[in-house]
Amino acid sequence: MAGPQVASRTLHPAPPESYTVFTAGCNFKCLGCQNWTISQFPDNRAVIDGFMDPAVLAQESVANIGSKMGRLMAADRIFFSGGEPTIHLPYIETVVREARRIDPGTRVNFDTNGYLTEDSLARVLGFTTSITFDIKAISEETMSALTGARVEPVLRNAGIVAKSAPEKLWEFRIVAIPGMNEDDIEPICRFIASLDKGLPVAFLAFRPNWVLDECPGASRELMNECVEMARAAGLENVSISGVTNIPGNTGEVAAEIEEAYRSSGARLAASHARAKGCKTHPRDCVSCESRDACPLKRYIPKRSC
Ligand code: SF4
Repeated sequence: MAGPQVASRTLHPAPPESYTVFTAGCNFKCLGCQNWTISQFPDNRAVIDGFMDPAVLAQESVANIGSKMGRLMAADRIFFSGGEPTIHLPYIETVVREARRIDPGTRVNFDTNGYLTEDSLARVLGFTTSITFDIKAISEETMSALTGARVEPVLRNAGIVAKSAPEKLWEFRIVAIPGMNEDDIEPICRFIASLDKGLPVAFLAFRPNWVLDECPGASRELMNECVEMARAAGLENVSISGVTNIPGNTGEVAAEIEEAYRSSGARLAASHARAKGCKTHPRDCVSCESRDACPLKRYIPKRSC
């Protein structure tokens, strides 16, 4: 396996309509990942497209955007997603350079979990037309339990985007996960409002997947509460989307987890991680001695909704 791996690519109708390139691999291990087959590659041995010459991918992307189907769909940009495209940044820069050699007006969206260095973020903002930016939690322990990563770089980078390139922010995306990051929603809204009340914010209803495969999806009531909290914080540009009220079992907090986390949401999320193989708590995948043979990464969900 040589070079950055492309999981798949396709014309995609979700806004911003695009030719979407899903890159394989991620620097997070989010318990409810919708794209777990892509994000946890190569540990789960998913079938992917593999390495593509960047000039070929650029040519293909420009051709698809300009195709009859692309125009019918109003696709107007290449959308790099994953996984986390940041881990393939030099490759993506080359694809964008090649695409703009063919069509200097090529637009680009970068879809990110926000966990990148300031230098990398500056490079992304240098070539991207729009950015979709996930904020998964705001408290360090909820972030750790849900993703295995620290929250500080994400919040720092959200602030940089809001300050230096607000016109490029397509939206901040927040997945509302019942019982796990609910207590983080209101402080996230206040955080974004402190940056700029006009910034676009999209709440996505959690759907059971990967490690959280048996959990219930977000209820309609929870999504409405998200909007109310956002409006109460002063946010002016808020949307919700996703299927709601998918049934499931919330699960129970494992006694072994209680000492490692203070909040009920982090404890519940971490209990699911523990049940599926993660024995390191608080979760910290960067320093975890199991990271090169992470048992969680091999978990195959019983259902995907
Ligand atoms: S076992 Fe270690 S590397 Fe794997 S999810 Fe848990 S903390 Fe992260």
